[in-house]
Amino acid sequence: MDPADRSRPRLAPVTTLPDGTSLCSWQWGNAGLNGGALFDPPLDPWIWLIPAFLIGACIGSFLNVVIYRVPLGMSVNEPKRSFCPKCSKPIPMWLNMPLISWLWLRGKCAECGAPIAFRYFAVELLTAVLCVAMWRFFPPQVVVFLWVLAALLVSITFIDAEHLIIPTGLTWAGSVIGLGACAVWPQLPVMAGTAGDWLAGLKHGGIGWIAGFFGLWLVVELGKLAFGKKAMKFDQPVEWRLKEPAGEQDPMWFVIAGEEIPWWDLFSRKTDRVLVETGDIRVDGESVGGGKLTIREMEIELPDGTVRHLSKMKSLDGTATSVVIPREAMGFGDVHLLGMIGAFFGWSGVFFSLFAASFYAIIAALIGRIGFGKQLPFGPFLALGALSWAFGGWQLWKWYLDFLGPIWTP
Ligand SMILES: [Zn+2]
Repeated sequence: MDPADRSRPRLAPVTTLPDGTSLCSWQWGNAGLNGGALFDPPLDPWIWLIPAFLIGACIGSFLNVVIYRVPLGMSVNEPKRSFCPKCSKPIPMWLNMPLISWLWLRGKCAECGAPIAFRYFAVELLTAVLCVAMWRFFPPQVVVFLWVLAALLVSITFIDAEHLIIPTGLTWAGSVIGLGACAVWPQLPVMAGTAGDWLAGLKHGGIGWIAGFFGLWLVVELGKLAFGKKAMKFDQPVEWRLKEPAGEQDPMWFVIAGEEIPWWDLFSRKTDRVLVETGDIRVDGESVGGGKLTIREMEIELPDGTVRHLSKMKSLDGTATSVVIPREAMGFGDVHLLGMIGAFFGWSGVFFSLFAASFYAIIAALIGRIGFGKQLPFGPFLALGALSWAFGGWQLWKWYLDFLGPIWTP
């Protein structure tokens, strides 16, 4: 290492990779990949973190648009200008500056005074910090790819936390960009191992995608077999009804053959529905015939195809011979997300992210007492698991292999 380099402030110790190069030497171009020819900053390295932070804050500002509009099926381009969700007034350019505007307006719309969620500020700050960290810990040629990854993980985290969906448009785009990153910097999918040429990088990224996608797909399918859709069949028609909540905070209940199931156990995702094979359906005490009844979170679909909103009914009951109830611990969106993580970090990153995510989810469930009754989104934990891998988890993996390697290889 350049002796003059010692005086430079550092966020973390220099990390040496198996091929003898170090991340920090790539970072500042003193040695390694290009001998400093490609990237040799004239200024103190800390200076470069400031533009990374500002770019990150701007990306975060755009992500707020993505997080709000994509789950609602709106375009991120039209309308061009951001608008207040309450009064729909477009937000002028000078009030649309990342981080600063939220603080300046003290979290309120300048037009109507409606509170602007802290989430907008948090997303901008989080993205800015992640962009700085990516810049600090990874070589420059791959940083733009990893900024896209950070942006996707932030968007997916907030969308999944609120809507319990992961838009597959985001994960497909991310998978392609991940493979591109592996070709540009073949060390990425084998952080703890030895990198090859760009084609080997692409191969490792592809293997990672397959491991992530099909690995979790298998887990989801096995989970469905074990705890999945709960089907009940009855020899004799049984009584079923919807039971009104007792208080404001209580859920509505679906009661069948004496078993009472709370609404939030049935409908955690927008696509969830309960299928009832009915002998008879009574709406407000009046029979409307029998057949296949579909119950969704807010409405029912009668056998003849008519849809009725639950809030417009006083009572709903009848008899049934069978019912199918969804029980999915994980959705297909999580499968797509882990595929995308694999396209960036290879199969070892996939396994680390999945185990770390499960660990975080259990901790969160214990601390927050969530996950009991209410559905816990898994996407945010997978995102956190992937970031844990990127910012040091792979070193744990490397140490593990270094210790256990000689035992495995004869
Ligand atoms: Zn407003």
